[in-house]
Amino acid sequence: MKNYSFIHIIELYHTYKGTGVQEKRDFYQHKSDYYQFFVKMILILASLASLSYLVSDYQLNGNTIMPTLIPRTSILIPMFLYAFLEPKVKNYRIKELLNYLLLNMIVFATIWSVYHLEIKTHFSEGATIMNLIFLICCLGASPCSGFVGYCAFFAQILISHQFNHYENLDVILSLNIPCFVAITVAHYLLNLGEFEHYLTARKLENALITDPLTTVYNRHRMNQLIKDNQLISDEAQISIIMLDIDFFKSVNDTYGHYAGDQVLHFLGTTLMREIPKNGTVIRFGGEEFIIILPGWAAEKAYEKAEQIRRKIASSEECPVKFHISAGVVAYNGNFQKSISAADHALYHAKETGRNRVFWDREF
Ligand code: GH3
Ligand code: MG
Ligand code: MG
Repeated sequence: MKNYSFIHIIELYHTYKGTGVQEKRDFYQHKSDYYQFFVKMILILASLASLSYLVSDYQLNGNTIMPTLIPRTSILIPMFLYAFLEPKVKNYRIKELLNYLLLNMIVFATIWSVYHLEIKTHFSEGATIMNLIFLICCLGASPCSGFVGYCAFFAQILISHQFNHYENLDVILSLNIPCFVAITVAHYLLNLGEFEHYLTARKLENALITDPLTTVYNRHRMNQLIKDNQLISDEAQISIIMLDIDFFKSVNDTYGHYAGDQVLHFLGTTLMREIPKNGTVIRFGGEEFIIILPGWAAEKAYEKAEQIRRKIASSEECPVKFHISAGVVAYNGNFQKSISAADHALYHAKETGRNRVFWDREF
C-alpha cells in the first residue's frame, strides 16, 4: 500500500500537469464511465428527496402545502428529462453538463419554493444541504466543471435575492462559501488520487497485452481485437503478414537461449519501428509474429514484408545473424480464416527455400 504524503501529492500534481490533453480527456472519460452510474442514482434520489421538503413547507406555511406544491414537484420534469437523456450520451463532458444542470435545477426548485414561503430564513439550511450533492457530483466530474457548477449555484442565490430578499443572505453566504472552498479543494485532491488509479490501471492493462521480451503485443491483444470486432474497419483493405524466424531452434542450440532471446528482442523492436502507427504487431507464438495493417492493400503489405525481410537478413546490429520467412494475405472479413491463410502462405515460403516472402493472391 502506498503511503500518501504532501510530497507524493505534489509529485502527482506535476505528473497531472505534464499530461497531454488527449490523455486527460481519456482519464475523465474513464472516471465518468466508472462513477457516472452512482452519481446519476444519487442525483435522482436527491431530486426525489427534495420533494420531502413539502413537510417542512407545511410546517412553515401554516399547515398547507399548496403554495409550494408546484415549485417543489417541478423538479420531476428535469429529473425525467435527465433520466431519459443521460443514457443516450457517452461523452463525459455532456454527462457532466447534465449532472450539474439537474443539480442546479434542484437548487432552482428550492429557491422557487422559498419564494412562496412565509419565513424565508430557513433557506440557509436548505442551501447548505445542497453542498452534499455537490460533493457527490465531483466524483465523476473534472474540478473545472465542478467549479463552474458551483458558480451557477452561487449565481442562483444572488439573483434570487433580488426577489426573495433573504433577511440572512450574509448567513447563507457565510455557511456556503466555506463548504464551496472545502469541496473544491477536496475535488482537486480526489481527482489527483483518481488520476493515479487511472495511471496504474493503464499500466496494468498495457502489461497484460504486451510481451515483455519483444515489446510487441501478445495474444491477449489479438483476442481483444477479435472480441471487440476492431478488425471490421471502415478502411478499404486490411492486410495480414505472418512471419517466423528461420531455423531459430539452431540459433538457440548454437548460441544459447540468451542469444535466442536477444534475437527475439531485436526482431520485435525492428518490427515496431518498421510498422506504421495504425498497424499492430503481435507475438503469436514462440518466434512467430502477426502484423495487421489496416488501410494497406496486400501488394503494399507484401512490399513492406520484403523490405523487413531484407533489412533483417542484412542487419549487422543483432549479435546473431538470422533471417525470416513471411506469408501475406488480404484480410477477408474472417479473422480465423485469414490467419490460417497467412499461416499457409508462410508455410509455402518455408517450403520453397526460407528467407523469402510469399503473398497468396488467391485468398
Ligand atoms: P523453421 O525455420 O521451420 O521455423 O525452424 P525453427 O527452428 O525456427 O522452428 P521450430 O518451431 O523447430 O523452433 C522454434 C524454436 O523457438 C523452439 C523454441 O525453443 C524456440 N523458442 C520459442 N520461444 C522462445 C523464447 O522465448 N526464447 C528463446 N530463446 N527461444 C524460444
Ligand atoms: Mg521458425
Ligand atoms: Mg515457428
